[in-house]
Amino acid sequence: MEKKELLYEGKAKKLYRCEDDDLLIAEFKDDLTAFNAEKKGTEEGKGALNCQISTNLFNLLEKHGIKTHLIKTLDKNHQLVKKVDIIPIEVVARNTATGSLTKRLGIKDGLVLPFTLVEFYYKNDDLNDPILTDDHCLLMGLVDDRSKLQILKDKALKINEILKDFFAQRDLNLIDFKVEFGIDKNGEILLSDEISPDSCRFWDKKTNEKLDKDRFRQNLGNVKVAYEEVLKRVLKENK
Ligand code: UDP
Repeated sequence: MEKKELLYEGKAKKLYRCEDDDLLIAEFKDDLTAFNAEKKGTEEGKGALNCQISTNLFNLLEKHGIKTHLIKTLDKNHQLVKKVDIIPIEVVARNTATGSLTKRLGIKDGLVLPFTLVEFYYKNDDLNDPILTDDHCLLMGLVDDRSKLQILKDKALKINEILKDFFAQRDLNLIDFKVEFGIDKNGEILLSDEISPDSCRFWDKKTNEKLDKDRFRQNLGNVKVAYEEVLKRVLKENK
């Protein structure tokens, strides 16, 4: 399958048309952005690491019954995916408080939450991805009925359970993550975009070391080393 014209370029990926009109080719870029692209950087090889990490995690989720847009990887930083209409809601699941949750509500950083919190954010850079209530989603027409929001929440919680266990077996604490969903030509809701250290937070179980994009956000250094470590653990055979 060959790349045809560029259809869309986001902060971390480019999407290309290919011979099959129902499919797209996603290229994972080496660019890193934070704080709504106010901070920009690039890390050679980051795209390939995220492509491999995300492919493995999507395959794992498929095995557990979560439908995704992924067809297959084409090379180290390209995936063949189903074309979907992305629902413009970033679905965030949190096991431990950190990041915007602690800043906004004053909750102590590192507090293990009594239950997994699922939040919706509006995928809109001009508005700085504001948090959404269910009613906001409905009145803005981001989904056509309330039951879709419950489906998104249930899927995020199921993904969380699968990934939390998977990473726990690899000595990583899944702190929080963001996922996006799309609707395919049959009206099916598919997990889309990516799941990688760009979109998740991982803390090492033993040392609490951050192994994710916070290394870039907080200028902690060794960004690529951390992403390589996540890939190494993802590829580790189950104990
Ligand atoms: N996240 C993301 N894209 C965004 C915002 C957040 O992938 O545009 C991820 C982020 O990496 C973290 C989780 O969603 O794993 C929760 O992020 P948070 O709301 O704490 O935002 P931040 O502190 O990054 O502003």
